[in-house]
Amino acid sequence: MMQSMQEYIEEAEKALLHTYNRYQIVLDKGQGVHLYDLEGKQYLDFCAGIAVFALGYHNERYNDALKAQIDKLIHTSNYYYNAPAIEAAKKLKKVSGMDRVFFTNSGAEAVEGAIKAARKYAYLKDGSYDHEIIALEHSFHGRTFGALSVTGNPKYREAFQPMIGNIRFGRMNDFDSILEQVTDKTCAIIFETVQGEGGIYPAEESFMKQVKALCEEKDILLILDEIQCGMGRTGEMFAWQRYGVKPDIMTTAKALGCGVPVGAFLMTEKVSENSLVSGDHGTTYGGNPLAAAAINIVLDLFEENHIIDNVKEVGDYLGKKLDELAGRYDCIVDRRGAGLMQGLVFDRPVGGIITKALSKGLILINAGTDIIRFVPPLVITKEDVDEMAAILESCLEE
Ligand SMILES: *Cc1c(COP(=O)(O)O)cnc(C)c1O
Repeated sequence: MMQSMQEYIEEAEKALLHTYNRYQIVLDKGQGVHLYDLEGKQYLDFCAGIAVFALGYHNERYNDALKAQIDKLIHTSNYYYNAPAIEAAKKLKKVSGMDRVFFTNSGAEAVEGAIKAARKYAYLKDGSYDHEIIALEHSFHGRTFGALSVTGNPKYREAFQPMIGNIRFGRMNDFDSILEQVTDKTCAIIFETVQGEGGIYPAEESFMKQVKALCEEKDILLILDEIQCGMGRTGEMFAWQRYGVKPDIMTTAKALGCGVPVGAFLMTEKVSENSLVSGDHGTTYGGNPLAAAAINIVLDLFEENHIIDNVKEVGDYLGKKLDELAGRYDCIVDRRGAGLMQGLVFDRPVGGIITKALSKGLILINAGTDIIRFVPPLVITKEDVDEMAAILESCLEE
């Protein structure tokens, strides 16, 4: 029986853990850059399922590729090879310039794998167990214990102590704060090339280059978390490619499967030859044929549809539009970001604005309490940006 949106919401509050503060709508279907709730109300989507649905909703080629794979083979386990995963690994190597791939089911798991690889690499060098990792304040790497341990938000960690230990924190774009944390035991430095949840902070080129030089000098592994800022979002396939600073280990997820839960960590040949070996790491689902089929079609469509060109063009336009808004409203104090990953910084909490926008058919999300984050599908047009800006402005007027 068809239930009303309100009935579903009441049932959800009885059945689901209260770990999310959800907006009071039940989403039902999507088309292009629009979502529809159960009552048929249309929303322009500037969230994309948190930087996931890059290709837009109901992309026929994507859906058909998944359907074809479902009819063929969904899962095999990693005891055997499967062709979609081999194809996906090859394509991912090509667009990233990395050498080896391990498929996971989520972003957090990709970070877990990256941390394990870094620790093993250090362990093989000196046989000791007390290696340290440097992460950044305001970072976000996921909710599992390893990923949480390198997440620079004490509020997320507080109740779950102890963390995995030997994690030290520096600050984004403050190289001295990194140097202060380096010891003989440092095995890795991990950060997001553009911090997402923490407030859309892009790394500066000088910071990237200094950290990279430090890592090379001391044989510390550089782990870049590209889970949110990667997959074309900033106008490069991976955000680090803009700086030419290549990581030793890289994580990706979110838009990698465009909705099918997948992630991956990748590494250079040097790290792979000196870290994880047979028996060290595994996953039942990771890189199964269905997940891999999603990655394959996503990477194919990125290339065929020139997604990154669109990000460059519309991203510039979005930045200009947001700057104009910032110029007209004193409550907006800054605009940060790259490509289609932008943040508007307010001098007050933005929850009210986001709720108002939702009632007017625009989906926005926050990053921290004072920042509106813009991470739309990568196929949006300038007209969509205009529409978004007009709705946002009408919310600010009120
Ligand atoms: C979302 C995110 C993660 C965690 O990914 P999940 O798939 O939610 O586990 C890790 N790092 C960054 C930068 C993210 O944005």
